[in-house]
Amino acid sequence: MSVWPTHARFDGSIIMIGFGSIGRGALPLILRHIACDPTRLTVIAPDDEDRALVEQVGGTFLKVALDEENYRDIVTPLLTADEDQSFMVNLSVDVSSVAMADLCKDHGALYIDTVVEPWAGWYEDPDLTLAERSNHALRESMLDLRRRRPGGTTAVTCCGANPGMVSWFVKQALLNLAADLKIDAEVPATRREWAQLMHRLGVKGLHIAERDTQQAKTPKPADVFVNTWSVDGFIAEGMQPAELGWGTHEKALPSEGRRHKSGNGASIYLARYGAATRVRSWTPTPGAQTAFLITHNESISIADYFTLREAGEVIHRPTCHYAYYPCDDAVLSLQELADNNWQPQSGAVVLDEADIVDGIDELGVLLYGHAKNAYWFGSQLSIEETRALAPCQNATGLQVSSAVLAGMVWALENPVAGIVEADEMDFARCLEIQRPYLGPVVGVYTDWTPLDGTAEAGKPEKADRSDPWQFSNVIVRQTEGGALKVA
Ligand code: NAD
Repeated sequence: MSVWPTHARFDGSIIMIGFGSIGRGALPLILRHIACDPTRLTVIAPDDEDRALVEQVGGTFLKVALDEENYRDIVTPLLTADEDQSFMVNLSVDVSSVAMADLCKDHGALYIDTVVEPWAGWYEDPDLTLAERSNHALRESMLDLRRRRPGGTTAVTCCGANPGMVSWFVKQALLNLAADLKIDAEVPATRREWAQLMHRLGVKGLHIAERDTQQAKTPKPADVFVNTWSVDGFIAEGMQPAELGWGTHEKALPSEGRRHKSGNGASIYLARYGAATRVRSWTPTPGAQTAFLITHNESISIADYFTLREAGEVIHRPTCHYAYYPCDDAVLSLQELADNNWQPQSGAVVLDEADIVDGIDELGVLLYGHAKNAYWFGSQLSIEETRALAPCQNATGLQVSSAVLAGMVWALENPVAGIVEADEMDFARCLEIQRPYLGPVVGVYTDWTPLDGTAEAGKPEKADRSDPWQFSNVIVRQTEGGALKVA
């Protein structure tokens, strides 16, 4: 695109927290598409290796690690510098999303993040039970804030690629499926209508099905975790219990499955690390693959959003989980992590656009169980296309940073929507903003089912042939490593 469109105007201060792979990628997109004064940008992070990227556009870099004690003193003056409204863009690890969103509410500032991040130490806290260390608990902590402080200035939570963009893909995929099934359906206007449409189409569940084929120029060194986005973030979520939205078509809980004692019952967790939990899934490039069931916010929020109730009774809910096959170096890194008895490696590398030879991030949603079996809809963004579209990021990063951009524009267009999840935003508007950055966006039907298995995984031992889409067919029989003690 030779002339980039300006999507919105913002006159106040932008406070970006964290400047890692996503922050570095988001900044040029924000400055390209939102008319703002870059001298009113402040980036806060404890690591200032990339300070020059901020200073060369006129912004200020504050080298500091935010924590529970110091964040109010450091951030409040930035949020209240003058009469103009501020916008906080939280793209950090180890900084509580709930604390930041709460502080923004105090000062009428707009807010966006890409995960519900806890303060440092939470993921490893030995005093927390598995249920307390789940994404269900993290999501509920943000929803609690919404219950305590409803409405008001917009705070967009969990708006990256996934969680985030994939929620918009689910809606587009449902409309495509309805058209292909020749089912006459209006675009739903409410949450209930979306849930009705999913039910009517017979969608039993969905995978957030991802295959990252980006490969590095140099082989992975020993004792270094290599990934295409935050190593800290991936290890943290990989070592949470596996979790999934639990659909109404499921016949039996998995042997390690546990229900939460509180909340709305949309999800379950497994007494096992997600990084030690393999699931059969499918994306267009490799076809069948055994991916990792890493816990994610969207597994729960999508299952929750599409729950259909009649007179308080749950009539239909999709099973929903992430099936992530990260880049090959990250798969090797997970193996090394497991071999090292889950002690993180001493080194960490996030591959940037210069480190990568080739490959794509194929990230979409696989809707299954309907009359056409299964439908994958998503982005197949290559590293080559990414380099041509935007600086400072790889394909994984651009899928995330462009969703942050879409979320910010949506927030500026809807400034008093309160705390919202991606499922609750205008999916068509957000995808319109994001679309130029996603490479080929395709919809593909497949005859594959989890009963087909893969050469590596073998056939499910006690397969339920009456319903290929039972989770018992999706989950791969587990080896010993990675089981977690239930408190
Ligand atoms: P990264 O590890 O590359 O960078 C993290 C940044 O946070 C660094 O700049 C680091 O210095 C900063 N940071 C660490 N501790 C801090 C503190 N106490 N105060 C302020 N800053 C601090 O991570 P990334 O790949 O840029 O990811 C950033 C966030 O986005 C993570 O939470 C990650 O889980 C999330 N993410 C979401 C998606 C999605 O699709 N929703 C995808 C990728 C990453």
